[in-house]
Amino acid sequence: MTDENDFAQQLDRARRALSGAGRVAVLTGAGVSVESGVPAYRGVGGIWQEVPMEEVATPEAFARDPKKVWDWHAEKRARLGQVRPNAAHKALATLERQIANRGGRFLLATQNIDGLHQIAGSWNVLELHGSLVRIRCSGCRHKQSVGFDESPGPPGCPECGEPMRPDVVWFGEALDEDIFRTAVRAVISSEVFLTVGTSSLVYPAAGLVEAAADGEAHIIEVNLEPTPATPLADVALHGKATEILPELVR
Ligand SMILES: [Zn+2]
Repeated sequence: MTDENDFAQQLDRARRALSGAGRVAVLTGAGVSVESGVPAYRGVGGIWQEVPMEEVATPEAFARDPKKVWDWHAEKRARLGQVRPNAAHKALATLERQIANRGGRFLLATQNIDGLHQIAGSWNVLELHGSLVRIRCSGCRHKQSVGFDESPGPPGCPECGEPMRPDVVWFGEALDEDIFRTAVRAVISSEVFLTVGTSSLVYPAAGLVEAAADGEAHIIEVNLEPTPATPLADVALHGKATEILPELVR
């Protein structure tokens, strides 16, 4: 059998699993947004090769030099104003509508902080690492949306005056427990778990893949290359998410 036939067969199996499923959980990572022009953080050519994360993405860095950390995030945020969701984001929004139309449950957990899933029309999105287009107070619980605002800062909190910070999870910080617990619950109870564009190497992605394997979920992996999750997957589709996902939800 040729690889091409094999791929078509795998695609068909994945499509059938999705078309009958009432409960679907999805995990996405940087690989989904790279094709929109949002650079990845990790890996070759990633952002952390340009700027050491210790200088701009830790609570210690913010305490040391809040302006540097704020302005660095503001510049990334402004660049998001120029990118658009791609065919993979749109296919996931379509999948959510299909499942909602048949009365099923759909949850998309993303490691991305670019907001592109929501712009593409996804509704039930859990942002595991927060969002660049939101800021929160470093003192109280105040949060607000800022769109693609690139103003230098940080501004003071309108409620308490403490400096505002990006509402993203930095290195050395814990994920929001409620958000992660909700994601795990959805993954464990899902009939199909679809992981897209993530290397599945590090927490929390690795934890969600394991949760899916512990549950009864049919696991579908879509990624450019094999990952540590591949041996756990019932179907592994290796290629571009922008090409494979539209095929999956057709
Ligand atoms: Zn405050």
